[in-house]
Amino acid sequence: MVDRLQNFIDGNWRPSRADQALDVVNPATSEVLVQVPLSSAPDVNQAVEAAVRAFVEWRQTPAGERIQPLFALKALLEKHLDDLALTITDECGKTLSESKGELRRAIENVETACGMPTMMQGVNAEDIARGIDEFMIRQPLGVVAAITPFNFPGMIPFWFLPYAVATGNCFLLKPSERVPITSAKIFDLIRAAGFPPGVIQLVHGGKEAVNAILDHPRIRAISFVGSTPTAKYVYSRAAGNGKRAQCQGGAKNPVVVMPDADMEMATRILADSAFGCAGQRCLAASVAITVSDARPALTDQIMAAAHSRKVGYGGNPEVEMGPVISAQSKARVEGLIAKGESQGARVLVDGRNRKVAGLEEGYFVFPTVLDEVRPDAEIARTEIFGPVLSLMHAGTIDEAIALVNDRSYGNMACIFTSSGAHARRFRYEVNSGNVGINVGVAAPIANFPFSGWGESFFGDLHAQAHHAVEFYTQTKVVVERWPKTWSRKF
Ligand code: NAD
Repeated sequence: MVDRLQNFIDGNWRPSRADQALDVVNPATSEVLVQVPLSSAPDVNQAVEAAVRAFVEWRQTPAGERIQPLFALKALLEKHLDDLALTITDECGKTLSESKGELRRAIENVETACGMPTMMQGVNAEDIARGIDEFMIRQPLGVVAAITPFNFPGMIPFWFLPYAVATGNCFLLKPSERVPITSAKIFDLIRAAGFPPGVIQLVHGGKEAVNAILDHPRIRAISFVGSTPTAKYVYSRAAGNGKRAQCQGGAKNPVVVMPDADMEMATRILADSAFGCAGQRCLAASVAITVSDARPALTDQIMAAAHSRKVGYGGNPEVEMGPVISAQSKARVEGLIAKGESQGARVLVDGRNRKVAGLEEGYFVFPTVLDEVRPDAEIARTEIFGPVLSLMHAGTIDEAIALVNDRSYGNMACIFTSSGAHARRFRYEVNSGNVGINVGVAAPIANFPFSGWGESFFGDLHAQAHHAVEFYTQTKVVVERWPKTWSRKF
């Protein structure tokens, strides 16, 4: 009998009122770790009621006081980093160093939000007319919610949580039902950090919990990260209910390799981007476009990198790549490779039907390289979310940029080159919100917004930094006159 996780509401752990639950599985072994309840409207309502009550005091708490529990949370996250990293590895599959890396980004966001007393300052103008001053202040929205995906259980909630509460909102998290244990552990730390009850809540579940959040009249804003079809659904239902929404979707990230690139560096970084986190990163390189003479060297070296990558349980320090998240995901990725082959691609390195000794029940797909992928092939256009790199070839940088821009997603595009002119042209012309120059995972640090474009993002204000401050606050403009006769009395 495995344990069933609880929700965190009004400062306490509480069992979900839902009967239904799902097994949470270690993808490297298929062992059931715990059960997650599939909460629905009654649990969401209870959490929102507690948040509405807490908001009355929290919004009046000075920003300088609101950030004190965030300082405590940063220290607790640092202290428990190793345990949290192992939890991420066990429920999500990535390697320990990848898990630690995402936690470092989480901590960075907590640190950045600790600047809120300055970040949320308004602006003013004296004497906009004689004796009249005008100023704009930022006020919190009320209760806000975030719905997050499976692939970064330790980091993505922190793209939102610290900013939401530091600006004076009360916050509800609905993490992915596939990786809920990391959130459960983080909420033990949130409890210890000293936030007043009701300021931060955790409700586990899937689609029903999401719908209850989207329809709740007291939730003012929705932050979402996940696949594009769900992002579109969440964005339109949230907007239909009059809420603010920022919804980050899927990706299909191209990387251009010029003949003047440092080929050894380009291949090493490209392999990490394509195969790191088993390709389950929204900033994973999915298509490499070689230009002219870059083709033979890049092809040989990326094949070698794919062959040599050590695959296995991420908690083993020698392992460089873990499993994909589920049996369904493995079947889908392997099916897409087969589809690619049937549509004319050559399979240079085949990661299908491979087993890791001792972990025969794990959901492993080994690194895969496909060549001569046609731009109109399904594998060139669909997000694979597995360790699969497609190669395409262009004669010139013009052709390469045209291939980069021939897609609906716009999460990331990268170029490897030693030419500043090529690099500048690339960053100027590509339709992508995050751009890498000799970088394979162009993930903005916490002080910059995470800028997806196209089908990778629905909304206008992105996660992190000053965009998060704007998203979680509403502006109020005051036009003020104090007749001189009044002041003369004193
Ligand atoms: P997903 O869309 O399946 O799930 C995301 C969240 O939505 C989960 O909390 C889930 O419970 C909920 N959900 C799923 N289906 C739903 C439905 N039909 N109705 C209501 N809610 C639903 O995504 P995932 O598989 O967990 O995550 C992987 C995806 O996330 C990939 O497409 C990846 O590119 C994307 N992603 C994007 C970014 C980014 O910054 N753009 C970052 C990380 C992941």
